[in-house]
Amino acid sequence: MVVEGSQVVLLRCSACGHELSGLGNDRIFLCASCGRAWVLEDSSPVRVPVRFPDPDWVREVSKGSGDPLIHMPFWRIGSRISIPERIVRPDLSSSRTSLDTDREEPGLVRTQVPDRAQDLLFPAFSCTRSLSVGVELSIRPCVPPALEDSPDRLPSLVGGTVGPGDARRLAEAVAVGIEMSRDDFLARMDLRLEVLEQELLAMPCLAEARGLRVAGAGILIHWRNLEDCRDILAFHGLEPLADSRSDAILDHGSGLL
Ligand SMILES: [Zn+2]
Repeated sequence: MVVEGSQVVLLRCSACGHELSGLGNDRIFLCASCGRAWVLEDSSPVRVPVRFPDPDWVREVSKGSGDPLIHMPFWRIGSRISIPERIVRPDLSSSRTSLDTDREEPGLVRTQVPDRAQDLLFPAFSCTRSLSVGVELSIRPCVPPALEDSPDRLPSLVGGTVGPGDARRLAEAVAVGIEMSRDDFLARMDLRLEVLEQELLAMPCLAEARGLRVAGAGILIHWRNLEDCRDILAFHGLEPLADSRSDAILDHGSGLL
């Protein structure tokens, strides 16, 4: 359902006619009946590829936890990353102090990085730490094996607020964030990212007291970083959990990462 001006429009799956599910701010909507995902472009639905994980894999990565298991949408951007030039400082203390931009800073070291293929994973839902979560998830990406059989076992999934175009821009930011997180002192670089594949992943997450833990990757997304946390829990029939109750829960972070 979306609100257009004063009109409330009920969205239906263009493939099977089932009502689409999603939260108030969503741009991507999931069909719980046939498992297709749709993004609204100029009010018309356009199909987005979506992968649901194999249930045996989900059981394996979530076993031993007594917390409720829900699925959340993440983007997977299969990319080719080229870094023709990566320049590092010998140490942090030699950072530039002069405003003379024509003079090359002494001590810089040019390094070469081979082109690489990389899966970049990050939330498709509203999260104030999308970038840092994306960097953590993408350093050792945990891509679930896809559900192969009939869609009668599909888990329910909230929609997404990050559209396909925004996801491609966010993928570049995540790729830059990965380079910044390396164990050296990056001064500057030229990074190019080619998108080879793009799909939504329904990732299993454990609803813990402090936040959502991405099963398989082990990464915790705090409730305070999820604007829609109460709606997400209510969508799955769950009561608010300890840290998701406060009204002053939003932490917009202090910087890029
Ligand atoms: Zn459908």
